[in-house]
Amino acid sequence: MKRFVTTVLAMASLAAPLAHAQSEPAVTVYSSRIEQLIKPLFDRYTKETGVRINLLTDRGGAIAERLAAEGEGSPADVLLTVDMGNLWSAAERGLLRRIESPTLDGNVPANFRDPGSRWWGLSRRERTIFFDPSKLKPAQLSTYEDLADPRWKGKLCLRTGKQTYTQSLVAMLLVKHGEEKTEQIVRGWVDNLATDVFTNDASLLQAIAAGQCEVGIANTYYYGRLISRDAAIRDKVHLFWANQGADEGGAHVNLSGGGVTRHAKNPAGAQKLLEWLSSVEAQSGYTHGTFESPVNPAVEPDDIIKGWGIQFTPSPLNAADIGAKQPDAIRLLDRVGYR
Ligand code: FE
Repeated sequence: MKRFVTTVLAMASLAAPLAHAQSEPAVTVYSSRIEQLIKPLFDRYTKETGVRINLLTDRGGAIAERLAAEGEGSPADVLLTVDMGNLWSAAERGLLRRIESPTLDGNVPANFRDPGSRWWGLSRRERTIFFDPSKLKPAQLSTYEDLADPRWKGKLCLRTGKQTYTQSLVAMLLVKHGEEKTEQIVRGWVDNLATDVFTNDASLLQAIAAGQCEVGIANTYYYGRLISRDAAIRDKVHLFWANQGADEGGAHVNLSGGGVTRHAKNPAGAQKLLEWLSSVEAQSGYTHGTFESPVNPAVEPDDIIKGWGIQFTPSPLNAADIGAKQPDAIRLLDRVGYR
């Protein structure tokens, strides 16, 4: 297992406003979000409020395991993680506490938060279809489900089923279609693979650019990252919003998000920090460096994101319902031999 990286982000610094100095207790955040992306935002929070943030980062699964193993003795006040399956499972395992926050409820649309008020989405991560425009026209594409059709044989690229994003996409299909039909769809995908499943979305998108496959499914922010480094990718790989037809259910939207830990020593400070992260003021800082979309509808996404078009219908399914199907999705993927 990777070693934990602990960083005291800002000691009671001279930059902190005097009125706040030493008055407010620090907030300890366990995060599976990359440190370099979130640190500047936390530094800003410390500068504005005087509240120190202790940050510990690791992969999503590992950080939740650590929180669970520490139990009552855990120093963590906030858990930040990615993927609705991880958020759901953290709540299910009793790692998060229920809090009342009209601010969070006001900033985060209802389908992007826990109905039990234990976690809230903080960024949206759309997972949709990408294709090679030299080989396909958008009119030939329609839905995730359609990619199971035999006419896509040898043309489809997918990410490994061992990864939570694939599991959440299949969990979404389970909520939508039930077990039998979802199994048919996933079997169809596996039959259509152009090559072995990919360990990450970036190499999948590059495989489309290289002509290895005609079509694939990936998170939009990986596309954003590639474009930000090499604008030519935009011509080699195009984005297609999946499932936009009237009865097709909308494109799959995953989340990063967080909640206050069950054994938080500073729950009030934890809640304030989460509320701030969902605010108009912080949402661009939280999402723009990552090419994710703000969860707060009052905030505009990054220009690169606007470049590929943000007019699309997202799936209205509740993130918690999809998260709850994650264990079934994992079993299904195993059963059909999706590696
Ligand atoms: Fe990712």
